[in-house]
Amino acid sequence: MFYINAMQIRSVGQNIKNFGSYEGYSYNSYNQNSTENENNKDGGSKLLSIGGLYLASEGINLLSNKVAKLMAKGKEYTTPENVKKVTQSMLKNNNLDVDVYFVNPKNIQLVSLQSGISVNNLKEVAKGENAFYTESLFGKVAVAPTSKPSLIQHELGHAINAKKPFLKLLQKSRRYLPVIPTALIALNYLTKKKNSREETFIEKNAGILGFMAYLPTIIEEGIASIRGIKAAKTTLAGKGINLGVLRKNYILAWLTYLLGGIGLGVASKLSVKTGIPMQ
Ligand SMILES: [Zn+2]
Repeated sequence: MFYINAMQIRSVGQNIKNFGSYEGYSYNSYNQNSTENENNKDGGSKLLSIGGLYLASEGINLLSNKVAKLMAKGKEYTTPENVKKVTQSMLKNNNLDVDVYFVNPKNIQLVSLQSGISVNNLKEVAKGENAFYTESLFGKVAVAPTSKPSLIQHELGHAINAKKPFLKLLQKSRRYLPVIPTALIALNYLTKKKNSREETFIEKNAGILGFMAYLPTIIEEGIASIRGIKAAKTTLAGKGINLGVLRKNYILAWLTYLLGGIGLGVASKLSVKTGIPMQ
């Protein structure tokens, strides 16, 4: 969901179906012919490990989809009225100048007009499958589905993070994620000694480097959720709410990011091995 600029901060849940950035690793571009078939043991084991990595990445994608679906099906922890109370207190206690919208198929046009966000970018939200926080020239906006309002607390968690310089830095780091595999291929090319069969640092560590690039996002997502949970706890203390349900929903959403990080690690390893950016 990148519609206004790269500042777009992605939503709860990194569902492959919903989201822009890079999670839909396009393995269609994977081409066996382009891997060096060296006709020796090395070449054979290299092909085997490429196959293994490819399968692993497919598995991660499937699992991530499953987790995202589970989250989408999750119940709400409290009533929409209570969520609105939490929303108000998050806005007030943190001096947030964020416009908040709850979107459904009936009000999608109106929200689009009021927020400046295109109908297209609100569609998934209206369906209950997405929520996001975004900053643009038009202002700061957080949207969540009317059917799943509690997602707004996580998005406002992002809005609070955006006010803290270090966390803002973590947020911004995600804009570089799409180019990580390409960057690693380039770095590897630059650091590889000519005619050397020795593994370079990048070749050895591409997986962990890819994951590390994703780590700031995983951390920032976690902090946004913790803020959302804490706000519910303090605002709705003694109201008999089921915080466990909220926690579970948020953990599932966070898991999709963790899987995204592992996926980027695998994609990075594959990219460096094949010389083709996989993302
Ligand atoms: Zn998020």
